[in-house]
Amino acid sequence: MGIQLFVPTFRVEECLNEIRECLEKGWTGLGFKTVEFENKWKEYTGHENAHFLNSATAGLHLAVNILKEQSGWLDNDEIITTPLTFVSTNHAILYENLKPIFADIDEYLCLNPADVIKKITSKTKAIMFVGMGGNVGRYEEIAQICKENDLKLILDAAHMSGTRYAGDIVGKEADVVIYSFQAVKNLPTADSGMICFKNKEYDDIARKYSWLGINKDTYSRSGNKGNYKWEYDVDYLGYKYHGNSIIASLGLVQLKYLDQDNAYRKQIATWYNDNFREYTDKIKVVPIPDKCESSHHLYIIEVNNRDELLEKLNENEIYPGVHYKNNIEYSLYNYAKDTCPSTDRISHRILSLPMHMKLAKADVDYVAETVIRYAKQ
Ligand SMILES: *Cc1c(COP(=O)(O)O)cnc(C)c1O
Repeated sequence: MGIQLFVPTFRVEECLNEIRECLEKGWTGLGFKTVEFENKWKEYTGHENAHFLNSATAGLHLAVNILKEQSGWLDNDEIITTPLTFVSTNHAILYENLKPIFADIDEYLCLNPADVIKKITSKTKAIMFVGMGGNVGRYEEIAQICKENDLKLILDAAHMSGTRYAGDIVGKEADVVIYSFQAVKNLPTADSGMICFKNKEYDDIARKYSWLGINKDTYSRSGNKGNYKWEYDVDYLGYKYHGNSIIASLGLVQLKYLDQDNAYRKQIATWYNDNFREYTDKIKVVPIPDKCESSHHLYIIEVNNRDELLEKLNENEIYPGVHYKNNIEYSLYNYAKDTCPSTDRISHRILSLPMHMKLAKADVDYVAETVIRYAKQ
């Protein structure tokens, strides 16, 4: 089977017990475990609001949708974003007829504040920040830029479940934070996500929009119970984006072990670092800033012969990944060609090494030794 990039780990009996509760109760949909998971997530993160969704992609879309509507943004207004991300991040901007303006990345593979500032125009409404691999990069500076320029801040925290900065979960100053619990993220379920708005009112709106725009308030307020329980208004063209109790069951169990699992991921990162320490001439490990406790969703290195090294690793039954292809290279985003030179360069040099709970030290050493053998100066 070789050594895979990601292998999700589940405490199977505990997961099945949570799911069994849903089946016995006859409640697998919205409510019940979804509410329990939202409450536990708020408690864990310290975010004031949390709404459980069927994916982070849905969350990113709702984030842009609601901020646009509530702030009165116009079509073709701009959001500054990163080209080094999963396409969901940038698709969410296009879904709402806004324009992704790409700013370049820094040594953390996150947005470079200096380039972000250069790309602000009179049409800029928000900045979309991605914490690559669980790294905070220069997030604090980006938050400051948003404050000074009156821009909204959207944090794509798909990799950041459990990431802390100066001891606290990241993103309290962001207008909205979106987490992914997709199958191979560091808090894996099957497919799901969480949207955490700073503003309670926006959280209320997100709950309506994630369920087709159905508004129960009108009728519940009128005091009609019994007969009129089925009655509701639909005042907005919403989406089918909410999560369900079966998947929330998985999330509840995973959350219990999140810090413990992230600690093991950190151990794996340390083993890799120890192996690579003497080879800085050909293997550059992406740094993590002081005060950042990364979730270590990804372990990324930069090398001179990435594509060749990938082949060599595959021949040795090691299957790394690449996070990510420069989005500007996709035809949909090619209008931004040549606007991000560092991303153009670095995106061809990066490689994500196997990182998951089933790796033993011997596996990590074997991967590292093989990388060292085939990486070129
Ligand atoms: C995985 C991922 C997403 C999308 O998450 P889903 O839950 O699969 O929709 C968005 N942004 C980034 C950076 C991701 O890695």
